Amino acid sequence: MVRPIMKDPLFLARKAEPATAADIPVAQDLLETLIAHKDHCVGMAANMIGVNRRIIAFDNEGTYMVMYNPEIIKTAQPYYAEEGCLSLDGVRPTRRYKSIKVRYQNEAFQVRLKTFTGFTAQIIQHEIDHCEGILI
Ligand SMILES: [Zn+2]
Repeated sequence: MVRPIMKDPLFLARKAEPATAADIPVAQDLLETLIAHKDHCVGMAANMIGVNRRIIAFDNEGTYMVMYNPEIIKTAQPYYAEEGCLSLDGVRPTRRYKSIKVRYQNEAFQVRLKTFTGFTAQIIQHEIDHCEGILI
């Protein structure tokens, strides 16, 4: 189900709670909402659809990927970028890393470790910031 985009700054500033298997329908809605906005959006976190759980969905070089409870455990090569967000107007400057290592749970709730680089790494950093209650 495509859900409305949450824009309340107080809700978006809350740190997300850990996700469990009971949140699988939330991830499905998140993916459907992301796809509905695909012309101008490459990633979303669950709090952007009003559910304060640690789930993100994003475009991984043409394939959609969902992560439960993602955490960045290693970073390399900082740089400055400008980003926009469906929950905000305009673009803002931010510091990102060209390479990140992420620990997350997949759709079967198995723990996985994966390194991402470039634009995908940038999207994941933006969405994990949402999980921390951080807006660009
Ligand atoms: Zn955003």
